[in-house]
Amino acid sequence: MTKHSNPFLLNTYELGRRAGEMKEYQLDIPAHVRIGVPLIAVPEGDLIEVDARLESVTEGILVSAEIYTVAQGECIRCLDPVEMVIDRKIQELYRYEATNEKGRKKKRDDDEIDLDDVEELQMEGDLMNLEIPIIDAIILTLPVNPLCSEECLGLCPDCGEKWESLPEDHAHEVIDARWSGLGGVDFGNSDK
Ligand SMILES: [Zn+2]
Ligand SMILES: [Zn+2]
Repeated sequence: MTKHSNPFLLNTYELGRRAGEMKEYQLDIPAHVRIGVPLIAVPEGDLIEVDARLESVTEGILVSAEIYTVAQGECIRCLDPVEMVIDRKIQELYRYEATNEKGRKKKRDDDEIDLDDVEELQMEGDLMNLEIPIIDAIILTLPVNPLCSEECLGLCPDCGEKWESLPEDHAHEVIDARWSGLGGVDFGNSDK
């Protein structure tokens, strides 16, 4: 029915434009790409549930939304799969496209680049593009170094077994890496 292939676009035509009008939307947005950080992310195609409440205000539309989804990754210490529920609230103002507002236009003529202006969200006609705030919310929630648990002991660097499942006195014979290239040389005093 809709021509827009971007699942993050919310058509707000049903929302009255008088300040104070409100409408709630429940969206299931499929992740168009993997969304996250290198070690943990919402996989491509998984659903992002968004409960959004839109309110018309004088300068645009205020959206308050709760974002719910599940990210998958692996523990940096033991490489076990890690699942993380993301449940985060956001609030953003989408300004109406500035067309006839002389005051604002004048301000825009300044060459000064204001960071707030660059990041400002704008309506595209009736369309509200939720992509940036949703992706930001997901990425900001995810840990750069995911762990299966804070107490994860990780793996033995020599055999790759989990410390958790190894006996307390687990150890490997220390072989100096400098000698490993000299295989076959008999030092005469080897115990083996
Ligand atoms: Zn772990
Ligand atoms: Zn080991």
